[in-house]
Amino acid sequence: MSFKTLKLSTKLLQTLEDLNYDEPTEIQEKSIPLLLDKKDILATSQTGTGKTASFVLPMLENLEESTVVKTADARYKIQALILAPTRELVIQIHEKIEAYAKEYTHSSVALYGGIKLGSQVSAIRAGANIAVGTTGRVLDHIKNGSLNLDEVEMIVLDEADKMLEMGFIDEIRKIIALTPKTRHSVMFSATFPKPIMTLAKSFLRQSITIEIDKENLATKQVRQMVNHVSEEDKMPLLCEVIVKNSWQQVLVFTNTKLQADKIVENLKAKKIKALAIHGDKSQGMRKEALDAFKLEEISVLVATDVAARGLDIINLPHVINFELPLNNEDYIHRIGRTGRAGQNGMALSLICDKEKIQLEEIETLVNSKMEVFETEGLTLSTSISPTNRKVKKEIKKKSVNLKKAKELAEKMMAKEGMGKKVIPNKKKGEHKKPKSKRHF
Ligand code: AMP
Repeated sequence: MSFKTLKLSTKLLQTLEDLNYDEPTEIQEKSIPLLLDKKDILATSQTGTGKTASFVLPMLENLEESTVVKTADARYKIQALILAPTRELVIQIHEKIEAYAKEYTHSSVALYGGIKLGSQVSAIRAGANIAVGTTGRVLDHIKNGSLNLDEVEMIVLDEADKMLEMGFIDEIRKIIALTPKTRHSVMFSATFPKPIMTLAKSFLRQSITIEIDKENLATKQVRQMVNHVSEEDKMPLLCEVIVKNSWQQVLVFTNTKLQADKIVENLKAKKIKALAIHGDKSQGMRKEALDAFKLEEISVLVATDVAARGLDIINLPHVINFELPLNNEDYIHRIGRTGRAGQNGMALSLICDKEKIQLEEIETLVNSKMEVFETEGLTLSTSISPTNRKVKKEIKKKSVNLKKAKELAEKMMAKEGMGKKVIPNKKKGEHKKPKSKRHF
């Protein structure tokens, strides 16, 4: 399907072409026609699927463009409001709106905490008609008199499950109550637990539910791998995997701020440039770290789930789960940082004994058995734990069997006069490595 069939305006089609968006992603294909038609929707879609454009493009088309230069009276006229759980996600959505809206008079303002209200107030006054914000900061502006939601025509709750998980339900309700009842409402959520359904019921009018196949999402573009390792070997293994494979852009996930800092220290000790983003880091530091990572000034960004939620790092080749997330659904979010919109990626999870059951649960969730990442050639094999030794033995047995099977097949083919044929035993990888080195 092409964007043209979605009945978007010529100027928007031109912008999409400039951005090299050849065709709509699944969520865009499903939601754009409904949103252009001003239908309320409840959609499941992870970041990395093109979710932002799926609501921003119809938003740009539906909102009336200003024909006059903004006057002081127009300064508080916010026509669309997007609520998101984290500052990073707010900034990202805002940046995408600006990119998609370059041919429109629409303009967006990002409202998030950690910086003074002043600059945001100026941006609203300068004529922004789309506001993207965290719930707390949106309420701050309302209290401050710098934001008025009386004329909101469209409201989007992005990553609603995360906002609820973070305890923002009352703030969400307060904000919604300040918008006109006639508004067009959209809600995105990775999961549909009861509190989400309750919110959806009160917030949406006869909504249409859109689900994107999770199995497809997780397994289509991301090569999911595991390495069984003892807890104490995780750190040296992480460093070695990155160094030996010369990985240049790796996002490492961990569950605690303390662990994130510890990982950064260890990586730095191995001369790997790394920074952490987590809740204890100031807004400025988080942005700096993210920018440095995007500009490839550092090769590893270590993040906790909340800090990394929704981060859009284009073409990220590697994600490593230093440990499995506390919440299985977050696994999908984590690996969604790689394999974005048509790119291939790889997600490696370091699994110790106590995580094995959870790994099985995750494999059921994504409906896929993960491949074992071989650490052959890494010095770590000298400090191998009993568990890992057992797993390695199994791998070795399997590869011996595979070798035997190959020899047998070659013999049979030679007998049948088919000549020597190589049976591929490796999946297509995305990295160019010297032949002598094992890739995984
Ligand atoms: P999102 O899920 O909105 O965070 O988008 C993930 C990434 O996919 C972003 O880098 C977008 O710029 C990109 N993207 C979104 N839609 C498309 C598309 N139709 N074709 C190619 N890239 C896209």
